Amino acid sequence: MSSLDPGLFNKNYPILITNVNSSDKIIDIFIDEIGLIKDIGENISKKYDNEAILSIDAEGMVVLPGFVNLHTHAAMTLFRGYADDIAFNQWLFDKILPIEAVMTPNDVYIGTRLACLEMIRSGTTTFLDMYFFELDVAKAVRDMNMRAVLSSLYTDFGDSDIIDQRKKETEKYVQTVKSWNNNLITPGIGPHAVYSVTPQSMEWCRDFSHQYHVPIHIHMSETEKEVLDCQKTHQTTPTGLLYRHGLLTPETVAAHCCWISKGDCSILAKGGVHVAHNPVSNMKLTVGKTMPYQWLKDAKVNVGLGTDGCASNNNLDMMETMRIAAMVQRFSWNDRSLLPPQELLSLATHAGSRALGLSTGVLQIGKPADLILLKSSGGFPGKNGLSPEQMLTQSSGSRVDTTICNGRLLMLHEYVPGEEEIMNQASHAAEQLVRRVNQQF
Ligand SMILES: [Zn+2]
Repeated sequence: MSSLDPGLFNKNYPILITNVNSSDKIIDIFIDEIGLIKDIGENISKKYDNEAILSIDAEGMVVLPGFVNLHTHAAMTLFRGYADDIAFNQWLFDKILPIEAVMTPNDVYIGTRLACLEMIRSGTTTFLDMYFFELDVAKAVRDMNMRAVLSSLYTDFGDSDIIDQRKKETEKYVQTVKSWNNNLITPGIGPHAVYSVTPQSMEWCRDFSHQYHVPIHIHMSETEKEVLDCQKTHQTTPTGLLYRHGLLTPETVAAHCCWISKGDCSILAKGGVHVAHNPVSNMKLTVGKTMPYQWLKDAKVNVGLGTDGCASNNNLDMMETMRIAAMVQRFSWNDRSLLPPQELLSLATHAGSRALGLSTGVLQIGKPADLILLKSSGGFPGKNGLSPEQMLTQSSGSRVDTTICNGRLLMLHEYVPGEEEIMNQASHAAEQLVRRVNQQF
């Protein structure tokens, strides 16, 4: 497919998509020159034939909103497969933190571009990130034309000497990204977790979020040890501690929430917090418990889905995450009716978008055109190959044919311009990183 004109990509112009399956109806979609869905419905293509610069015949394909990955660390693609098969604390403190210590801003840029490529290929158009050198993450996302909320990692590990430096770094990052006026990229703040950020810093993050109107992104109650240590030190759960210091707000996304009680769910609901469920990461890192979806749903907490970083998943495939989320929740609650396909799709699209304060995640007139086309053929039953519902629980991101974000073509018929260069750069950077960390020990 490399015969496609690279000039078609990464810019706004009118696009017409015809004959595509949406909820078992065959429809057409017209995207205008500013990236919004101008029209959607049955037999509307003739009206826009002359206006469209590009027409995509999507016969045999299914259209869905682009996926929203609600928790990841994009640059960790460079650590895929590194330090697999060891316990959580050994993985984080003995392996991941030392290799991150030898990372350069350029490594973060290169790793993030690879992550964006993988997300585009598997149908994700928006993601929520947390990392250090987040400005280089933002530059990569800007170059790849994706939509993202990018949280600058904040840790102090109890060391008051570095707090001033952290505050300055965070402030500079947020001001720089805001000055770009790029409507696809929102800067955020990422206090890492209750064990890596002091209460004093938590309160600074809270005030900073209010002052600059930036979202908060935090890991919470991922492991039993985190909860037990927090109870010992602060006489409350991580949920209680974050509530005490004002970090549980409608602008907060809390990732994991595996070891939470029913009482914690009520506190999360009271704060208006959104939760990112990362089932593949939780199983890979063997945290011992799955996020209690039913309790959160009963408490009316908005839940979205995330992959987490590649070091704790090995891929960024939201369709795999959807399938595993459904299976692990059904298994955990012993209830096969839990998370039916439409609800699952909503978690991976609309709920994620809502958590980030965006208006994407639905296919509607006037909304930004963040959408994907999936191949539905392949030996499955159904009048048009695989039905949209089957698509969600029987597939992986390799079914994605075309990805459009904010009306801009990012992938067409599985072709992404510049793919080879991104992959070569990332392979080289990953090799060099492992060499550098090995030299230190
Ligand atoms: Zn994480």
